[in-house]
Amino acid sequence: MAYIGSPQSLTVLPQGPDAAPPVLPEAQITGADPLLLSGTVGSARADELDSAFRTVKEELAGRRIIDVNSTMNGGGVAEMLHRLQRYSRGAGLEARWFTMRGDPAFFALTKRLHHLLHGADSYGPPLDRAGAEHYSAVCEANARALLGAVRPGDVVTLHDPQTAGLVAHLQRAGARVVWRCHVGTDDPNPYTDRAWAFLRPWLETADAYVFSREQYVPGWLAGRQVAVIRPSIDPLSAKNRPLAPAAAAAILGRVGLRAPADRDGPAIYRRGDGSVGRIRRNPTCLCSASPPPADAPLIVQVSRWDPLKDMAGVLTSFAEAGGSLDGAHLALVGPDVTGVTDDPEGGRVFAECAALWHRLPDRVRTRAHLACLPMADAEENAVIVSALQCSAAVVTQKSLAEGFGLTVTEAMWKGRPVVASAVGGIRDQIEHGVDGMLLDDPRDSVSFAAQTSSVVGDHRLAGALGAGARRRVRENFLDDRQLLQQTSLYRSVARV
Ligand code: UDP
Repeated sequence: MAYIGSPQSLTVLPQGPDAAPPVLPEAQITGADPLLLSGTVGSARADELDSAFRTVKEELAGRRIIDVNSTMNGGGVAEMLHRLQRYSRGAGLEARWFTMRGDPAFFALTKRLHHLLHGADSYGPPLDRAGAEHYSAVCEANARALLGAVRPGDVVTLHDPQTAGLVAHLQRAGARVVWRCHVGTDDPNPYTDRAWAFLRPWLETADAYVFSREQYVPGWLAGRQVAVIRPSIDPLSAKNRPLAPAAAAAILGRVGLRAPADRDGPAIYRRGDGSVGRIRRNPTCLCSASPPPADAPLIVQVSRWDPLKDMAGVLTSFAEAGGSLDGAHLALVGPDVTGVTDDPEGGRVFAECAALWHRLPDRVRTRAHLACLPMADAEENAVIVSALQCSAAVVTQKSLAEGFGLTVTEAMWKGRPVVASAVGGIRDQIEHGVDGMLLDDPRDSVSFAAQTSSVVGDHRLAGALGAGARRRVRENFLDDRQLLQQTSLYRSVARV
């Protein structure tokens, strides 16, 4: 689910039994009282969560909960871990979050596993014996680094394919180990089989497994402890707090994604610590003839530059559409791809989209905008994403595969009408025609343009879908529900 990494991920790891273990990046997060959610979810839901936290805290009796994934910035997993850790700490649990380190060969191999688990073929290193040996060596080096932080009885959740090779090492240290997989497909095929054949030997002994959908659970896990936990968003985070239209307009004007107006105020926002933040950084890459006019309907897709997000397909569909999209502008926005990361494909996918943009006829190119957002300041990045989502006439997510799709949840929470592919977890979020629009075949660019156009051209429809979307997220996809499920899982795993 998340492959945008820190520069550390490029470091060549010291490997071998005598090498000093690497130092793993650890998140520094200030706790937040889960009862703060009561303003949004109501006191009954907040009290239920508070009581669940009290129980788990008592039962863990000082044992830690630890998360391990491969990046602290960008992508859905990192997005969620920030907040789940925050509320867990605020509730008094001893929670820690580490990210793995690896070299380019390791991340190329794990990115290939990611695509295969989504049921898609992909280029990348072969999943052969040499690949397995390298994967194993990198995981072993990371495990040695983690062993200093893990005590017997701690509950460690390992996220996604990168971490599977840590399971046995941490269990030998006495930890209870949960493996959580954020990707998957409803229709297993030879590609998913290949990924599981590679990963299964490392995963066999885990104490429990978590998937985002029932359909993603592979058959070989029959009889094991498996939980289905859907991702969620934090209504109080920088990305999901209310943002006034004028503030959103000023922020987009500042970063070149909307024509600045004289009446615009300063591009400022409230930071999590209460201080005033100022948008200081520009997109690191921007393909735009001139910013969209303030009154033009904006179609927005925010995604990592990953082939499965099909940013190129959105651009092509927009270029070929006519009708009510003639007056609309399209913003395709993703994270910075420079300074390479543990997503080995980001630069290539952005370059392909940029090349496509350059070839567009003038009448389309002047209405299409590609932007890579700076990642140096997570809150600044989140507020820019929020400003885009809040200002959109339609948010799209034309993914070819999707584990869950937090970008969909975020837009729905902001009351925006969403047009998205009927794939993976997006199907759990949107009921077609009630709280969004579902595109049956994600490759059908004609229907995609027609659906987008029907929402742009019909304010009543857009308003009704947006209102339904906000209700749907409030009921099902806010963090209190995920935290409740998680505390219950910690309790059962700790008791094993
Ligand atoms: N995201 C972001 N900045 C970007 C692109 C994406 O903050 O430039 C965030 C986005 O808002 C969402 C997450 O990354 O919270 C993506 O999660 P999702 O589940 O949609 O997809 P994933 O990237 O995990 O496959």
